[in-house]
Amino acid sequence: MHCNHNIKFALISLNFLNLPTFKTNYNIMLRSHNCGELRKKDCGKEVILYGWVQRTRDLGGMTFIDIRDRYGITQLTFSAELNVELYKKAKSLGREYVIKASGTVVERSNKNFQIPTGEVEIIVHSLELLNNSDNIPFTIEDDTDGGEELRMKYRYLDLRRNVVKQNLLIRHLLAFETRNFLNQFDFIEIDTPILIKSTPEGARDFLVPSRMNPGQFYALPQSPQTFKQLLMIGGLDRYFQIAKCFRDEDFRADRQPEFTQIDCEMSFVNKEDIYELFESLIGHLFAKIKNIELDDFSVMTYNDAMKYYGTDKPDTRFGMKLVELNEFAKEKGFKVFDDAEFVAGIKVPQCAYYSRKQIDELTEWVKRPQIGGKGLVYVKVNDDGTIKSSVDKFFNEDDLKNWANHFNAEKGDLLLIMAGDKNPTRRALGELRLEMANRLKLKDPAKYECVWVEEFPLLEWDDVTGRYYAMHHPFTSPVEEDLSKLDTEPNNVRANAYDLVINGVEIGGGSIRINNRDLQLKMFNILGLSNEEIENQFGFLMNAFCYGAPPHGGIALGFDRLCALFAGTDSIRDVIAFPKNNAGRDVMIDSPAPIDEKQLKELHLKLDNLQ
Ligand code: ASP
Repeated sequence: MHCNHNIKFALISLNFLNLPTFKTNYNIMLRSHNCGELRKKDCGKEVILYGWVQRTRDLGGMTFIDIRDRYGITQLTFSAELNVELYKKAKSLGREYVIKASGTVVERSNKNFQIPTGEVEIIVHSLELLNNSDNIPFTIEDDTDGGEELRMKYRYLDLRRNVVKQNLLIRHLLAFETRNFLNQFDFIEIDTPILIKSTPEGARDFLVPSRMNPGQFYALPQSPQTFKQLLMIGGLDRYFQIAKCFRDEDFRADRQPEFTQIDCEMSFVNKEDIYELFESLIGHLFAKIKNIELDDFSVMTYNDAMKYYGTDKPDTRFGMKLVELNEFAKEKGFKVFDDAEFVAGIKVPQCAYYSRKQIDELTEWVKRPQIGGKGLVYVKVNDDGTIKSSVDKFFNEDDLKNWANHFNAEKGDLLLIMAGDKNPTRRALGELRLEMANRLKLKDPAKYECVWVEEFPLLEWDDVTGRYYAMHHPFTSPVEEDLSKLDTEPNNVRANAYDLVINGVEIGGGSIRINNRDLQLKMFNILGLSNEEIENQFGFLMNAFCYGAPPHGGIALGFDRLCALFAGTDSIRDVIAFPKNNAGRDVMIDSPAPIDEKQLKELHLKLDNLQ
């Protein structure tokens, strides 16, 4: 029976998000309503619902079934008194069976205000079993009993859970609103090729052997970088793409070999134009999807980020900035400090009460190889104004009071101090700062602080290979006033590059590009590429630069990270429909996997080369 109601509105209630209403015209469909939309006002209606059995409860003579679909859950009621056959059929249904139920909407006597449909139930008069289900490997509940690997193996079942579904909905909305916004600002969405050419710069490429060209390979793009620049040379002015990117990197927590970027490029812009436009985009997304108005973005140089936060991804939601201590700590006879290039610390608010055991545990924490600290010195500014430290033997009360003043410490504060080489010490203190913020719950999840980090070094020297690498990528232009230093002191040249950091997470990065052939050539030369290598790998770009390349620049936002930020999860796996695990495996389809000898032969690959 088809219902004669007009357009129906289905609503998913995600109370922390400001989501739009989905409209589906069920009038023309098999079902009359979805499982999330019936309310008290619908009482008396004849309805047809389709969905999965979430659970059945039998109270002897009465059976209740929660029927679930993407939109919600509705209670179906069966009474032995009314129809014993139907009652028995309902009782026999297992979890995740797929059913069709027709019946009348009635007001529930025992209301459930936890769910939007909880004031009504359906007195079912016809029930059809459409498909049954094996025993499920984990419960399809918000609080499931399944571990992550198991849920990834059966991802199609995991997708039935609210949290996963909601995350994909957030992802959809972010993509949708991004397109909407960029379209309004004249960006056009253009897709660039997936089978491209390998270049050794950057991360490792995923390679695809070409059957038709023995011994030759395509590469999957690490990003559409050169293509988007060519689109600017092609006069398209403003481009974007929600692009799949592929990087064959060593496995690290929360890295996916394939990931998605909101990739953009613009002609005739400077850095500030890009900041303005992408601040508006991020503002638009927060307003539309989270109903949050963001504060203005701040701008910080790379040098300041390293100096005050020990990282180029500063989380500015809380203080505890790094404080340098060389002038106060050296030449007092404490060898550790005297021998170190750099002494600095953080002021942990109101932790002077920490016990010996707690300090020892923190000391062990900083000594872990991931942190790389050699030790930890503490200074406690006690409530009674006295000072106690682990270096009392070398520093008298006045020295330590000077330290406390230098840190602006108040009674009850704890100073944690580390020493060593400058950069590693800064990084370790940066990590300690984040760890203390976690322990003290200083990272307010309701607060979003956005920072542009700029003036990165253009180049990084690598001792192992004895050459420079581009810190962003080789197409990034140097800051104009540093151009003259390219020949004389390349490591002091700043890049016209920027990262967007939100709450300590790098959400994106980009740069103003080189658009001059000679400068691009010089850059490649500094990176150690011979003219032949440049011609081989980037000949197409060098050629294009001969034909009026406009000034241009752009940015790519990590779409998975952005989704994770909006979904309030730390893991990008949670916001990808079919993610790979931390070892880069898809445990559902079991990939990567060997291929048979015939395929290898066709691809001109020999197995013994591969073993
Ligand atoms: N293509 C760069 C990246 O993937 C971003 C950019 O410079 O626009 O990091």
